[in-house]
Amino acid sequence: MARRRIIAGNWKMNKTPSEAVELCATLKDLVKNDAVDVVYCVPAIDIVPVVQAVKGTNVSVGAENFYIEDKGAFTGEISAPMLKDAGVEYIIIGQSERRDIFGENDILINQKVKKAFASGLKPILCCGESLALRKAGTYKEWIKRQITWDLDGITKDQVMNLVIAYEPIWAIGTGETATADQAEEVCRMIREMIADMYDAEAAEAVRIQYGGSMNAANAAELLSKPDIDGGLIGGASLKPDFGQIVNA
Ligand code: PEP
Repeated sequence: MARRRIIAGNWKMNKTPSEAVELCATLKDLVKNDAVDVVYCVPAIDIVPVVQAVKGTNVSVGAENFYIEDKGAFTGEISAPMLKDAGVEYIIIGQSERRDIFGENDILINQKVKKAFASGLKPILCCGESLALRKAGTYKEWIKRQITWDLDGITKDQVMNLVIAYEPIWAIGTGETATADQAEEVCRMIREMIADMYDAEAAEAVRIQYGGSMNAANAAELLSKPDIDGGLIGGASLKPDFGQIVNA
Protein backbone atom coordinates (compact mmCIF):
# COMPACT_ATOMS: atom_id res chain seq x y z
CA MET A 1 0.00 0.00 0.00
CA ALA A 2 1.34 3.38 -0.93
CA ARG A 3 2.32 5.57 1.97
CA ARG A 4 0.50 8.87 2.27
CA ARG A 5 2.72 11.91 1.89
CA ILE A 6 3.09 14.12 4.96
CA ILE A 7 4.26 17.73 4.73
CA ALA A 8 4.74 19.37 8.13
CA GLY A 9 5.79 22.91 8.94
CA ASN A 10 7.91 23.55 12.01
CA TRP A 11 7.15 27.17 12.79
CA LYS A 12 9.66 27.25 15.68
CA MET A 13 9.60 30.45 17.82
CA ASN A 14 8.49 32.80 15.09
CA LYS A 15 4.84 33.81 15.24
CA THR A 16 2.77 35.60 17.87
CA PRO A 17 -0.78 34.26 18.20
CA SER A 18 -2.22 36.97 15.96
CA GLU A 19 0.55 36.52 13.38
CA ALA A 20 -0.10 32.76 13.47
CA VAL A 21 -3.77 33.29 12.63
CA GLU A 22 -2.76 35.60 9.77
CA LEU A 23 -0.38 32.96 8.41
CA CYS A 24 -3.17 30.36 8.49
CA ALA A 25 -5.31 32.72 6.41
CA THR A 26 -2.46 33.36 3.94
CA LEU A 27 -1.82 29.63 3.47
CA LYS A 28 -5.42 28.40 3.55
CA ASP A 29 -6.04 28.06 -0.20
CA LEU A 30 -2.41 27.34 -1.05
CA VAL A 31 -2.18 24.14 1.01
CA LYS A 32 -5.38 22.52 -0.22
CA ASN A 33 -4.54 18.98 -1.27
CA ASP A 34 -6.56 16.02 -0.07
CA ALA A 35 -3.88 13.54 -1.14
CA VAL A 36 -1.37 14.87 1.39
CA ASP A 37 -1.33 15.13 5.19
CA VAL A 38 -0.58 18.78 5.97
CA VAL A 39 0.51 19.72 9.49
CA TYR A 40 1.38 23.01 11.15
CA CYS A 41 3.61 22.44 14.19
CA VAL A 42 3.35 25.64 16.16
CA PRO A 43 4.57 27.19 19.43
CA ALA A 44 2.49 26.32 22.49
CA ILE A 45 0.85 29.72 22.77
CA ASP A 46 -0.30 29.54 19.15
CA ILE A 47 -1.97 26.14 19.44
CA VAL A 48 -5.45 27.24 20.52
CA PRO A 49 -5.86 30.02 17.93
CA VAL A 50 -4.33 27.89 15.16
CA VAL A 51 -6.62 24.93 15.92
CA GLN A 52 -9.51 27.37 15.61
CA ALA A 53 -8.13 28.93 12.41
CA VAL A 54 -7.71 25.61 10.56
CA LYS A 55 -11.07 24.15 11.57
CA GLY A 56 -12.87 22.71 8.55
CA THR A 57 -9.69 22.64 6.42
CA ASN A 58 -7.32 19.79 5.50
CA VAL A 59 -4.69 21.01 7.99
CA SER A 60 -3.82 19.23 11.26
CA VAL A 61 -2.02 20.89 14.13
CA GLY A 62 1.15 19.69 15.82
CA ALA A 63 3.12 20.87 18.83
CA GLU A 64 6.86 21.49 18.98
CA ASN A 65 7.47 20.23 22.50
CA PHE A 66 5.92 18.73 25.63
CA TYR A 67 6.92 17.09 28.91
CA ILE A 68 6.52 13.41 29.80
CA GLU A 69 4.39 13.79 32.96
CA ASP A 70 0.61 14.30 32.82
CA LYS A 71 0.46 17.03 35.45
CA GLY A 72 2.14 18.45 38.52
CA ALA A 73 4.92 20.74 39.64
CA PHE A 74 6.76 21.23 36.34
CA THR A 75 6.82 25.00 35.97
CA GLY A 76 6.73 26.15 32.39
CA GLU A 77 5.94 22.77 30.89
CA ILE A 78 2.98 21.47 28.89
CA SER A 79 1.64 17.90 29.05
CA ALA A 80 0.40 15.50 26.40
CA PRO A 81 -3.18 15.55 27.80
CA MET A 82 -3.15 19.36 27.55
CA LEU A 83 -2.09 19.14 23.91
CA LYS A 84 -4.72 16.50 23.13
CA ASP A 85 -7.45 18.52 24.78
CA ALA A 86 -6.45 21.56 22.74
CA GLY A 87 -6.84 19.63 19.48
CA VAL A 88 -3.21 18.74 18.75
CA GLU A 89 -2.62 15.62 16.62
CA TYR A 90 1.16 15.51 15.99
CA ILE A 91 4.17 16.20 18.18
CA ILE A 92 7.74 16.88 17.04
CA ILE A 93 10.24 14.98 19.20
CA GLY A 94 14.03 15.15 19.12
CA GLN A 95 14.41 18.05 16.70
CA SER A 96 18.10 19.03 16.73
CA GLU A 97 17.47 22.40 18.40
CA ARG A 98 15.85 20.58 21.35
CA ARG A 99 18.79 18.19 21.47
CA ASP A 100 21.54 20.80 21.09
CA ILE A 101 20.21 23.96 22.75
CA PHE A 102 18.00 22.39 25.44
CA GLY A 103 20.11 19.31 26.13
CA GLU A 104 17.50 16.64 25.35
CA ASN A 105 19.17 13.25 25.14
CA ASP A 106 18.01 9.97 23.62
CA ILE A 107 16.76 8.65 26.98
CA LEU A 108 14.33 11.57 27.33
CA ILE A 109 13.47 11.42 23.64
CA ASN A 110 12.59 7.73 23.99
CA GLN A 111 10.38 8.56 27.00
CA LYS A 112 8.68 11.25 24.95
CA VAL A 113 7.99 8.87 22.04
CA LYS A 114 6.44 6.38 24.48
CA LYS A 115 4.38 9.07 26.20
CA ALA A 116 3.17 10.51 22.91
CA PHE A 117 1.88 7.12 21.74
CA ALA A 118 0.33 6.37 25.14
CA SER A 119 -1.48 9.73 24.95
CA GLY A 120 -2.75 9.38 21.40
CA LEU A 121 -0.38 11.92 19.86
CA LYS A 122 1.46 11.04 16.65
CA PRO A 123 5.20 11.55 17.03
CA ILE A 124 7.40 13.07 14.35
CA LEU A 125 10.74 11.73 15.57
CA CYS A 126 13.75 13.66 14.30
CA CYS A 127 17.26 12.34 13.81
CA GLY A 128 20.29 13.57 11.94
CA GLU A 129 24.01 14.16 12.01
CA SER A 130 26.26 17.18 12.46
CA LEU A 131 28.56 18.46 9.74
CA ALA A 132 31.54 16.97 11.60
CA LEU A 133 29.98 13.49 11.55
CA ARG A 134 29.02 13.87 7.90
CA LYS A 135 32.63 14.84 7.04
CA ALA A 136 34.04 12.03 9.18
CA GLY A 137 31.86 9.54 7.29
CA THR A 138 30.33 8.17 10.51
CA TYR A 139 26.86 9.67 10.00
CA LYS A 140 25.14 6.35 9.35
CA GLU A 141 26.38 4.85 12.63
CA TRP A 142 25.24 7.99 14.46
CA ILE A 143 21.73 7.85 13.03
CA LYS A 144 21.48 4.13 13.70
CA ARG A 145 22.38 4.78 17.32
CA GLN A 146 19.79 7.55 17.62
CA ILE A 147 17.02 5.39 16.13
CA THR A 148 17.96 2.37 18.26
CA TRP A 149 17.79 4.41 21.49
CA ASP A 150 14.76 6.48 20.53
CA LEU A 151 12.63 3.45 19.58
CA ASP A 152 13.61 1.24 22.50
CA GLY A 153 10.42 -0.48 23.72
CA ILE A 154 8.27 0.87 20.88
CA THR A 155 5.95 -1.79 19.44
CA LYS A 156 5.42 -2.70 15.81
CA ASP A 157 1.88 -1.26 15.86
CA GLN A 158 3.27 2.00 17.16
CA VAL A 159 6.11 2.18 14.67
CA MET A 160 3.63 1.68 11.85
CA ASN A 161 2.04 4.97 12.94
CA LEU A 162 5.33 6.79 13.42
CA VAL A 163 6.79 9.56 11.30
CA ILE A 164 10.59 9.77 11.29
CA ALA A 165 12.23 12.96 10.02
CA TYR A 166 15.79 12.70 8.76
CA GLU A 167 17.25 16.14 9.32
CA PRO A 168 20.98 16.57 8.73
CA ILE A 169 21.90 19.38 11.13
CA TRP A 170 24.21 20.97 8.57
CA ALA A 171 21.19 21.52 6.31
CA ILE A 172 18.81 23.03 8.89
CA GLY A 173 18.26 26.74 8.41
CA THR A 174 21.51 27.01 6.47
CA GLY A 175 20.18 27.14 2.93
CA GLU A 176 22.33 24.09 2.25
CA THR A 177 20.12 21.14 1.29
CA ALA A 178 21.20 17.54 1.20
CA THR A 179 21.09 16.36 -2.38
CA ALA A 180 18.15 14.13 -3.19
CA ASP A 181 20.56 11.18 -3.36
CA GLN A 182 22.12 11.99 0.03
CA ALA A 183 18.66 12.31 1.61
CA GLU A 184 17.41 9.11 -0.02
CA GLU A 185 20.49 7.16 1.10
CA VAL A 186 19.75 7.84 4.76
CA CYS A 187 15.95 7.55 4.49
CA ARG A 188 16.40 4.15 2.85
CA MET A 189 18.84 3.10 5.57
CA ILE A 190 16.29 4.08 8.23
CA ARG A 191 13.61 2.01 6.48
CA GLU A 192 15.97 -0.96 6.33
CA MET A 193 16.65 -0.52 10.04
CA ILE A 194 12.93 -0.65 10.76
CA ALA A 195 12.72 -3.87 8.72
CA ASP A 196 15.53 -5.36 10.83
CA MET A 197 14.13 -4.14 14.16
CA TYR A 198 10.49 -5.05 13.34
CA ASP A 199 9.59 -6.56 9.96
CA ALA A 200 8.90 -5.74 6.31
CA GLU A 201 5.31 -4.67 7.02
CA ALA A 202 6.47 -2.10 9.58
CA ALA A 203 9.17 -0.83 7.22
CA GLU A 204 6.61 -0.44 4.45
CA ALA A 205 4.25 1.52 6.72
CA VAL A 206 6.59 3.90 8.58
CA ARG A 207 6.65 7.35 7.00
CA ILE A 208 10.04 9.02 6.61
CA GLN A 209 10.45 12.73 5.95
CA TYR A 210 13.45 14.74 4.88
CA GLY A 211 14.08 18.07 6.63
CA GLY A 212 16.75 20.68 6.00
CA SER A 213 16.26 23.78 3.86
CA MET A 214 13.50 22.13 1.84
CA ASN A 215 11.85 24.78 -0.30
CA ALA A 216 9.62 25.35 -3.32
CA ALA A 217 12.56 24.87 -5.69
CA ASN A 218 13.98 21.60 -4.36
CA ALA A 219 10.91 19.85 -2.90
CA ALA A 220 9.76 18.00 -6.03
CA GLU A 221 13.14 16.31 -6.55
CA LEU A 222 13.51 15.31 -2.89
CA LEU A 223 9.93 14.03 -2.74
CA SER A 224 10.35 11.99 -5.91
CA LYS A 225 12.67 9.58 -4.07
CA PRO A 226 11.08 6.25 -3.12
CA ASP A 227 11.94 6.36 0.58
CA ILE A 228 11.15 10.05 1.16
CA ASP A 229 7.49 10.28 2.15
CA GLY A 230 7.35 13.94 2.99
CA GLY A 231 9.12 16.91 4.49
CA LEU A 232 9.61 18.69 7.78
CA ILE A 233 9.99 22.29 6.83
CA GLY A 234 11.27 25.19 8.93
CA GLY A 235 11.93 28.48 7.16
CA ALA A 236 9.79 27.84 4.09
CA SER A 237 6.78 26.84 6.21
CA LEU A 238 6.33 30.50 7.17
CA LYS A 239 5.89 31.63 3.58
CA PRO A 240 3.44 31.06 0.72
CA ASP A 241 6.15 28.72 -0.67
CA PHE A 242 4.81 26.13 1.77
CA GLY A 243 1.83 25.69 -0.55
CA GLN A 244 4.17 24.84 -3.42
CA ILE A 245 5.89 22.21 -1.26
CA VAL A 246 2.53 20.65 -0.33
CA ASN A 247 1.63 20.46 -4.00
CA ALA A 248 5.10 19.51 -5.31
C1 PEP B 1 13.66 22.21 10.82
O1 PEP B 1 13.82 23.07 11.66
O2 PEP B 1 13.17 21.15 11.17
C2 PEP B 1 14.06 22.53 9.45
C3 PEP B 1 14.14 21.56 8.59
O3 PEP B 1 14.34 23.85 9.17
P1 PEP B 1 14.69 24.49 7.74
O4 PEP B 1 13.67 24.01 6.76
O5 PEP B 1 14.62 25.96 7.96
O6 PEP B 1 16.07 24.03 7.37
